[in-house]
Amino acid sequence: MDTSVFRLDGVTKRYGDLVALDNASLEAGANEYISFLGPSGSGKTTLLRVIAGFEAPEAGRVFFNGRDITNLPAHERGIGFVFQNFALFPHLTVIQNVGFGLTHGKSGLSAAEIERRSLEMIELVGLSGMEGRGVDQISGGQRQRVALARTLTMHPKLVLLDEPLGALDANLRSRMRTELRAIRERLGVTFVHVTGSENEALAMGDRVVVLDRGRIIQTGTPGEVYDSPASPDVAHFLNRFNLFDGNLSGGRFNGVFGSVPVPRSVRSDRDVYAVRYDRMRALPVSADAAGPAIKARFVASEYLGSSMMNFFEAEDGHVIEMEHHLSLGTPQTFEARQDYLLTWNPEQAIVFGREASR
Ligand code: ADP
Ligand code: MG
Repeated sequence: MDTSVFRLDGVTKRYGDLVALDNASLEAGANEYISFLGPSGSGKTTLLRVIAGFEAPEAGRVFFNGRDITNLPAHERGIGFVFQNFALFPHLTVIQNVGFGLTHGKSGLSAAEIERRSLEMIELVGLSGMEGRGVDQISGGQRQRVALARTLTMHPKLVLLDEPLGALDANLRSRMRTELRAIRERLGVTFVHVTGSENEALAMGDRVVVLDRGRIIQTGTPGEVYDSPASPDVAHFLNRFNLFDGNLSGGRFNGVFGSVPVPRSVRSDRDVYAVRYDRMRALPVSADAAGPAIKARFVASEYLGSSMMNFFEAEDGHVIEMEHHLSLGTPQTFEARQDYLLTWNPEQAIVFGREASR
């Protein structure tokens, strides 16, 4: 029995010579929040458009509720799509925008029923009282909710959201993260959310799928992806690791910090040593570090709310980041332009390499 809500089976989408999606396979269960993380141009929008039926893949199949829908027109799929720019009708009110698909589609519903459903979704997204406003008389966050409510009135079984929080300011973005998750839970439908923000992907998804140049390079829970990135590229996208080039050989990594024993490593086509920002420690430059160490000059600190990020520059120009979670106590203060010895426990490093056994 196929219990997945949707499944991609080897989907490839090309635009001329450009491979926007490269043999992508994925399965999503019912009642999940899935986030796709990928940089700009990695194929996130293309992937959603293929699932929705706005683009036909050159190869592969798309299944929805156990049925092959690869050749089914978009309007027959029952899949909702919230566009990146919201795409609201500027001359219509909130409720007219929300009910648009029902009014202008083939819903066959009475005007009273359309109004009832629209009001129900307006309430769900927290916009009660704003039904009659023009969409140019509401804030960006409220427009985002209108776009979502408009999709939800169609009672989709799967909702695709294309960078839904990208246009919002930072405060609103973090509030909407919580709200989107809550709305999804109340509805019990699967949401697929694509984003270029690693924080958003890790905070929101029950499952995170990492996309790079049209390929799915890792799928896992946020914890799995965060603790065990599958490749140097994933570690790079997560924006939480200092990455050092070097050479893995005979169970040791040779980098700018010297030669360090490597207890275990992950197979990769490149030799890369990764240390999480919050695993770095700074010692006085005269100290004797027991493990690997690298001399670096303090550049600046940035307060991030729940942590302090410290930036150092190594002699070769490499910027090294060190994060201090404020829940662990008062952060160290550093002298501008002073040298420090940055060190870490090699047991906590993640090492990628050609000679790795797994
Ligand atoms: P993302 O949403 O992750 O930024 P897209 O899915 O929009 O990425 O694009 C993936 C790649 O496909 C990019 O290189 C983009 O330039 C290309 N692309 C997207 N849509 C088209 C199109 N209609 N015609 C040609 N190339 C396209
Ligand atoms: Mg896009």
